[in-house]
This record gives sequence, structure tokens and C-alpha cells, in this order.
Amino acid sequence: MSEYRFAIVGAGIAGASAGFHLARAGKTLLIERESQPGYHSTGRSAALYTETYGNRVIRALTIASRPFFEAPPPGFSEHPLLTPRGTMVIARADQRAKLEAALAESQAILPSVAGIDGGRAAALCPALRPDYLDSAFYEEDARDMDVHAIHQGYLRGFRAAGGRLVCDAEVLGLARKGAGWRIETRAGIFTAGVVINAAGAWADVLARMAGARPVGLVPKRRTAATIEPPAGGDFRRWPAVIDVDEQFYWKPDAGQLLISPADETPVEPQDVQPEEMDVALCVDRVERATTLAIRRVARKWAGLRSFVKDKTPVLGFAPDAPGFFWLAGQGGYGIMTSPAMGRIAAALAQGKPMPADIAARSITAADLAPQRFT
Ligand SMILES: Cc1cc2nc3c(=O)[nH]c(=O)nc-3n(C[C@H](O)[C@H](O)[C@H](O)COP(=O)(O)OP(=O)(O)OC[C@H]3O[C@@H](n4cnc5c(N)ncnc54)[C@H](O)[C@@H]3O)c2cc1C
Repeated sequence: MSEYRFAIVGAGIAGASAGFHLARAGKTLLIERESQPGYHSTGRSAALYTETYGNRVIRALTIASRPFFEAPPPGFSEHPLLTPRGTMVIARADQRAKLEAALAESQAILPSVAGIDGGRAAALCPALRPDYLDSAFYEEDARDMDVHAIHQGYLRGFRAAGGRLVCDAEVLGLARKGAGWRIETRAGIFTAGVVINAAGAWADVLARMAGARPVGLVPKRRTAATIEPPAGGDFRRWPAVIDVDEQFYWKPDAGQLLISPADETPVEPQDVQPEEMDVALCVDRVERATTLAIRRVARKWAGLRSFVKDKTPVLGFAPDAPGFFWLAGQGGYGIMTSPAMGRIAAALAQGKPMPADIAARSITAADLAPQRFT
């Protein structure tokens, strides 16, 4: 039996970012079911940082995360965590009103977002079909994220501060013990004062083990694939291109083009795999919008984006299970919001207030609290 102040379940980006800060506050254990942290959603993302995506709280969390990505603590990573990757949102003629509304909404947060004409859109991404595109806007300050470097940076910092990571350690049971928790895992039994639920798509499963009421988390499958880039031209400089109805997107990715049908199929928590239908749909939608002739898919995968009803993360102590702390529901935004989310989780789990710079962005503990489901 070991005594920890905090035990974090799940070593994806959520658990790693919270662990990075909590290990400085007290003895912290990070428990992961798989042999590799990052095997699930964290290792399957599209790695895009965009400040115009998601609802008000998501956008504020993303903007609050940028300073960490741009100037991480010394030793965090040898590589830049963000690199330029503008994001262009496109519309057909029948989607024009939606694009205008989305542009107005984005400009209210980010005045640098600009409507662009067909000529500029074609210059940015020459593969766009002129007879498909009606209107577009461009977020020049969006970025690619180095997800591996970010995740490893959190884990390295966690270990350097004395944190212990245990892999191949699926949590099988949680029971109250004294003022804390007894945690039964495949790698042995541990005890901790506070259990942090960073179990991704399995967060409701873990809550049930603790006797806490689930928050109605729905894991949604999203498919991605890579294709050979077009010959000639510098496709590496293309922006990420996203349909205004989020029916597809594509972006350069490590020498290839990543494409996605932006599917959101509800599924049970699992090691999710791509469906051929979704890959075919993706190829069809991308070919309709571009002059690309996709003959071969190089790689395909799927991952889970887990949402609660209001599409805002769930962070804070459970109202119905003492010492059980939620850090779940990161949806499609978990990497780009991880610096702010990790700091908020570490502060609230220690009974401290919301960090002042984050509170200044009008994010309150109530916006994130699990109490909103009771
Ligand atoms: C195709 C796709 C594209 C995406 N694109 C972006 C993007 O561009 N930008 C962005 O910011 N986000 C994006 N996301 C979302 C992002 O990947 C997620 O929000 C984020 O990775 C969630 O992190 P997590 O740590 O909560 O979950 P996970 O990475 O899934 O980690 C949870 C961990 O908990 C472990 N676990 C579960 N149950 C137990 C248990 N009982 N015992 C021990 N361990 C357990 C699991 O093994 C897992 O490793 C995308 C996601 C997908 C699928």
C-alpha cells in the first residue's frame, strides 16, 4: 500500500497536464491502463490550435493556453510547441449565410480573422475548386501543435517534480478508505487522498466505480486518414481548410495531407477503429471541394472525442463523492486547452481559487463544475 496525496487516473494529455502541476504540490501518482501513455485520444488528434473553435468557454480556455505554448517553462521541450498553420473556413453558395454568421462571431473574439475573396483563398490553397468555393474567412494566427512534445513535456516535468507514472495499471476498483481512497489496479493497490478522474472516454465508467453520479459523457468517433500530397507546389504551406458546417477538413501533416469527414458517431468507450464508410465519405467530400484525385489512403485511424451535453469540459470535485475530482469531457479541444485546464485542475484540487489570469478571461469554476448536471 502506498500513500499519495493525489492519484490521477489516465495519462493522456488531461492527466499529464494536471500531473505536471500537482506533482509540485504533493506526492502524486499517475495511473495508466495502457503500456504507453497517449495511446487513446491524445495520440490520435489533428493537432490544430485554433482560437475560433468551440463555445465561449472553450475559446477562452484556448486563448488562455497560448502563453504556455509560446513560452513553456525552461526544459519543457527542445522543439517549438506551435508552428504557423493558418486556418481557412470555406463555404459553398448555399452555406454563405452560415459563413457570414461564423465570421462575425469569430471576429468578435479575434479581430484579426478576416473574410477573404476567391482569389486569396485559391492562392492559399490552389487545390480548391473555384466552382465549389463561394466565400471564406482566414484565421492567420491558428497554429499546428507538436502534440508529442507537449505530452512528453508534461510527463517529463511531472517525473522531475517527483511524480510517479505507473503503466499497465488499469483501475479496477475504487473504495473510500479513511479520509481518502483505496485504488485497486492491475499493478497493485494504492491509496490517495484525492482521485483525479482523467480517464478520457472512460470517465463515467470510473465515476461509477467511485459511487459518483455519471455526467452523461458521450464518446464520439472521429475518423482521419492521410493521403499522398499533390505533386509540385508547396502544399506544406497550405492552411488547414475546414467546411463551415464541419463536414470535412484537410491540412498538411508530416509530409502528407490529413483528411477527415469530421464524423461524430456516438459509441461506447473503446479502442476505436475507423469504418470504411467514413473513410470513403471523407474521400468523396474532399474530392468534391478540390481538384485532388485521391487514389490511395496511406494511413487511417479513428479516435474518440468525448462530450457532455453542453460541450464544455467537466472539472471540479464531485458533489456526491468526497475527494473524487472530475477532469473530463475535453471533446475536440483537449490538446489546445490543456495548459489552462491543467492549471485550473491543479488549483481547484488543492482547494485554491481559479488562477487569476484565467479568471480574468471570464472563466468561472461554475462554468466547468460537475454540479451543473445535478
Ligand atoms: C481525430 C481527432 C482529432 C482531434 N483534433 C484535435 C485538435 O486538432 N486539437 C485539439 O485540441 N484536440 C483535438 N482532438 C481532441 C483531443 O485529442 C482530446 O480532447 C484529448 O486527447 C483528450 O485527452 P484525455 O487525456 O482526456 O483522453 P485520453 O488521451 O483518451 O486519455 C485517457 C486515458 O485514460 C486511461 N484510462 C481510462 N480508464 C482507465 C482505467 N480504468 N485505469 C487506468 N487508466 C484508464 C486510458 O487508457 C487513456 O490513456 C481530436 C481528437 C480526435 C479523435
